[in-house]
Amino acid sequence: MNIRIPKGTQDILPEDISKWYFVENKIREVLIKYGYQEIRTPIFEHTELFVRGIGESTDIVTKEMFTFLDRKGRSLTLRPEGTAPVVRSYLENKMSRVYPVLKLFYLGPMFRCEKPQAGRFRQFHQFGIEVIGTKSPEVDAEVIIASIEVYKKLGLKNLEVLINSVGCKKCRAIYIQKLKEFIKDKIDFLCLECKNRYSKNPLRILDCKKDSCQKIIKKTPIITEYLCQDCQQHFAEVKSYLDILGIKYFVEPRLVRGLDYYTKTAFEIISGELGAQNAIGGGGRYDDLVEELGGDPTPAVGFAAGIERMIIVMNQQNVEWPKNRGLDIFVAKVKGINKDIAFKLLQKVRSAGLSADMDYSSKSLKSQMRLAHKIDVKYTVIIGEEELAKNMVTLRNMKTKEQKEVKIDNLIDELTLCINNV
Ligand SMILES: [Zn+2]
Ligand SMILES: [Zn+2]
Repeated sequence: MNIRIPKGTQDILPEDISKWYFVENKIREVLIKYGYQEIRTPIFEHTELFVRGIGESTDIVTKEMFTFLDRKGRSLTLRPEGTAPVVRSYLENKMSRVYPVLKLFYLGPMFRCEKPQAGRFRQFHQFGIEVIGTKSPEVDAEVIIASIEVYKKLGLKNLEVLINSVGCKKCRAIYIQKLKEFIKDKIDFLCLECKNRYSKNPLRILDCKKDSCQKIIKKTPIITEYLCQDCQQHFAEVKSYLDILGIKYFVEPRLVRGLDYYTKTAFEIISGELGAQNAIGGGGRYDDLVEELGGDPTPAVGFAAGIERMIIVMNQQNVEWPKNRGLDIFVAKVKGINKDIAFKLLQKVRSAGLSADMDYSSKSLKSQMRLAHKIDVKYTVIIGEEELAKNMVTLRNMKTKEQKEVKIDNLIDELTLCINNV
C-alpha cells in the first residue's frame, strides 16, 4: 500500500518553491523596513496557552486544534495561530525590559483541523505582526498600512480594508447585553451553531455567514453606538491616521474577529476574488491578552494572513511570478576524460559563486547534454580531449547553441561575464 499525504496538507514542490521564496522575501523586506524583527517560536506549545490565549469557547479551541499527549502525558498542541506563542515568548524572555514597545513578525506553518476546502488547509502558513506595549492609535494604523504594503509589493490589487471597533471589556459587556436582548425572541431562527453561541459567545453570531442568521444579523444593534468615550476616541484617531496617509477603508460595524482576545480595533483586508471567505488577512488590538497570559496589563495590536490564500489570489489576479533562476553552469565531459578533472572544475565554478552541477553517472556526452537541457542550464562547459591538451574547454550557450573554446585559466572570468549578461 502506498502511503499518501495526510488530508488537508500539501507538498510544496520544487517547481512552486520560487513563488514561496518570492512571497516570504517580500514579507521580510517590507516588515523589516517598518522596524519589525522576526521571531520564531516552536511549532507546538502547551495546550493551556491556546485555551487561555484564544478563548475556551472559540471554534479553534473547541474543535480545530491538533492536541496530543507527549510520552509523559503532558498535553501539547500544534500551534493554530501565532499571537499567543509570541506573547508567551515575550513574557518568558522578559522582552519588555529591553523593548518598551516591541515590534515583531513571524512566518511559518500553523495547524487547524478544519474541513479542507479551496484555500483552506490543515497545515497552512501564516505571516503575522505584533506590536506589544503601546496603545497609540498610530500603531493600529501602521499595522494596517504595513500589511497593505506587503500585499501591494506582491502585486495584489482590488483590496479593501474593513475596520471596526469591538470596544473594551466595559463597553462591550453593555453591547453584548443589548445584542442578546435583541436576539432573544429570534433565537429559534438562528442556526444550531449560533444557538450555542448565544449563551457562550454571542458576539460571534455576527460572524455567521448562513442566510437565516444573516437576516437577523443585518438588523442587530451595532457596537459602535455603544463604545465608551475612550474606545470612541481611539477608533476616531485610528481612522484619522489612515486618512492622513490616504488609506481607503470601510467601517463595517458588524465585523468581529474569530478570537476572543480582540479589543478596540478589528480589521480585515478583503479581496473580491475569494468568494464568501474573502478575507485574506485580518487583525486588531488585543489589550487584554498579555495580562490574560500572566503578564502585567500591556496593550498590543497585530495582524495575520494566510500565505496559501494570498498565493491563490495572486494567481487569480495573474500576478507575474519571478522566473525560476535555474542553474548557471553544467560541466560535461567526453568519455575517456578523467572524472577528477571535471569534478575539480565543477567545484572551482561553484567557489566563484556560480550555481553549477554535473552528471555523476558515466553516461555519454549526448545524455549529459540532454540532462543539461532538462534542468534549464544557461551554459555548459564541455571538457574534450583535444581541447584539454591545449589547456582549453568548450563553452556552449544553451539558448543560442553558440560554442567557443576558452582557456581554462580564463574560464571563471569568462563564465562570470556570460552569466552576468544573461
Ligand atoms: Zn470601551
Ligand atoms: Zn448562524
